[in-house]
Amino acid sequence: MEMLALGDVFVAALRYRVSRVLKGNRDAVLERTRVEPEFADMDRGTYYDATLAHTERVAVRVGHDTTADFFVSISATAWMYPREAKACPALAADGKACTIHERRPLTCRTVPARYDVPAELLSRAVRATVERGRAEHGYECDVSDSAPVFIDGDTLVDGAYVKDRDAALAAIDSERNLHERLLQSERLPKPPEIVKAAGPHMDVSVSFPAVVIEALEAGAIELPAAREFVEKQMTLLDAAISRALARKDRGERETTGRFRKVRDSYATILKATAK
Ligand code: SF4
Repeated sequence: MEMLALGDVFVAALRYRVSRVLKGNRDAVLERTRVEPEFADMDRGTYYDATLAHTERVAVRVGHDTTADFFVSISATAWMYPREAKACPALAADGKACTIHERRPLTCRTVPARYDVPAELLSRAVRATVERGRAEHGYECDVSDSAPVFIDGDTLVDGAYVKDRDAALAAIDSERNLHERLLQSERLPKPPEIVKAAGPHMDVSVSFPAVVIEALEAGAIELPAAREFVEKQMTLLDAAISRALARKDRGERETTGRFRKVRDSYATILKATAK
């Protein structure tokens, strides 16, 4: 639970990402499988098999209907609040640098070789990230012949990225039991609700207090670390609520109300776990 170490920066959320994997007659499935443009030149069978194998590793199968299996992957993430910033809370005010670069999350460390992309699809995914960054954000990655070699074919050759990607996948493996428990929790949305709420973006985020309780009960985190995380989150929430109140923006009332509820839940956890 690397989020514990980032409790002084992020207002935490739990993010469920839903994947729908078609099943049935293989030819029909391959025909209907949606392929992103960056993978369009691949053999469809190779694409489908690689995607399915990776999904089975990083996500939990939660159900099915007549045409597809549903998988849910779980990650801790930051709520992008205050909303006016429209960016990661750890981004510097000038929008150019990560203020926690040395301890940034594994997800950030693995960009553009993201851990949730199968190894067989890496080169195409990296190329698409580079091209999208240039087109949409004006980033210019050095892709000249003199640039350090980062990937060779689909094989990552940059030692730091190999290590970080392996660490991210190992973290997924080690938290699998916790993820399965969270999906059964009475305190959190159940899989049918998650699938229904995921919408076109196929993901849904919920606030974190219930996760802290489940992780404590499962022995996935120690009490002192949990209490420290909760105290840091309350400090961040107090600051966010104060800033929101100072802005006197009616449009923020709902968010402020949600923050208050989350803060109250954390206060209850502190009280319940006090010696
Ligand atoms: S690398 Fe970017 S997204 Fe990740 S923590 Fe830093 S600022 Fe946030």
